[in-house]
Amino acid sequence: MAQRLNAPDGGSKKNSTVRVAVRLRPYMNRQDEKGEGPCVRGLDSQNLEIINWRNATETVKYHFDAFHGEQTSQQEVFLSSVKPILPHILNGQNASVFAYGPTGAGKTHTMLGTREQPGVIPRAVREVFNLVNAKDEDEGWDYRIGMSYLEIYNEKVLDLLSPSSQDLPIREDKDKNILIPGLTNTTISSFSDFDKHFVPATLNRTTASTKLNQRSSRSHAILLIKVVRTQRTVPHRQQTGKLYLVDLAGSEDNRRTGNQGIRLKESGAINLSLFALSKVVDALNSATAGRVPYRDSKLTRLLQDSLGGSAHSVMITNIAPEYKYYFDTFTALNFAAKSKLVVNKPFTRETVAVPVLPAKRPREEHEGGGSGSA
Ligand code: ADP
Ligand code: MG
Repeated sequence: MAQRLNAPDGGSKKNSTVRVAVRLRPYMNRQDEKGEGPCVRGLDSQNLEIINWRNATETVKYHFDAFHGEQTSQQEVFLSSVKPILPHILNGQNASVFAYGPTGAGKTHTMLGTREQPGVIPRAVREVFNLVNAKDEDEGWDYRIGMSYLEIYNEKVLDLLSPSSQDLPIREDKDKNILIPGLTNTTISSFSDFDKHFVPATLNRTTASTKLNQRSSRSHAILLIKVVRTQRTVPHRQQTGKLYLVDLAGSEDNRRTGNQGIRLKESGAINLSLFALSKVVDALNSATAGRVPYRDSKLTRLLQDSLGGSAHSVMITNIAPEYKYYFDTFTALNFAAKSKLVVNKPFTRETVAVPVLPAKRPREEHEGGGSGSA
């Protein structure tokens, strides 16, 4: 559960907090032409430090609910940050998992992964089927699992399971449930059934993205898994639990990627929705209850019933260790941090894990710190 380090309530649990985890991907030589080594490193399971650009003899130390270092496996991320919230969606509660961070930092790896290293999405879907199949017949409920898959691009809600559809409206019913009339909801009976619908839709999205210049990193991809359970006997009560799995648009400073025409419009939409998300997460995680500004963007509006309130939410902030991501990492960490602290000690001198070698070390892409960099 979310722990708050420096909140006045001293770490007591509030239902509505968003658990914040950070995942640092491995250092990749090909992302670092200058061979400067990493500028950020983990300290323990909740803390990391990044070199302070204002003063290289200082680092800035950040605290989170969880920190997943570069050695963390897909399985470990899933077990610690996602699996614990899944049982709730069988009981009519909602949940959401987001991957946040700059393009190239590992959001899609975390959410989708590969065949060899499946990410949160395939693991969560498998687990939901496991949980439903393990339910005791005698409990007296029938379960139906459905999926929807959509994209928010330029503040438009697009159905990825029905690619020809237009911008869909977002509505709220009298019980404050968020609905998207017209959105495809496909019943799925097994993981392979899920895959059959999910894979082509994801491929479509990626193909479109290469044509449209990295559109996939400039839109939010949102998978919705809905579990509806119905009592077998009268009064046939029905409960719906929703799980949102979200691969967010890149959080990098989009002004750098282009400031004309379509790029400018995209940047505006991304900034708007990520800023709205940050305000919502801040409002939910702050000790003083205030208005939560869900209506400021399509993304937050859509997630309103699954982020805060009685919902269970996790934000996984993905970061990259190379210097070229430095400012985007800094921004992402400030978005995610529970607290931060400037520590007055040099960043590079401390690493003893590997000897200091010449900067360019082919075939050692997964090494941690060690090379001089300041
Ligand atoms: P994003 O979706 O945030 O733009 P990607 O998930 O596409 O980033 O990751 C960028 C690159 O880094 C990809 O080549 C990906 O395979 C690799 N990568 C990301 N995270 C990890 C990780 N934890 N372990 C190994 N490789 C990773
Ligand atoms: Mg991606």
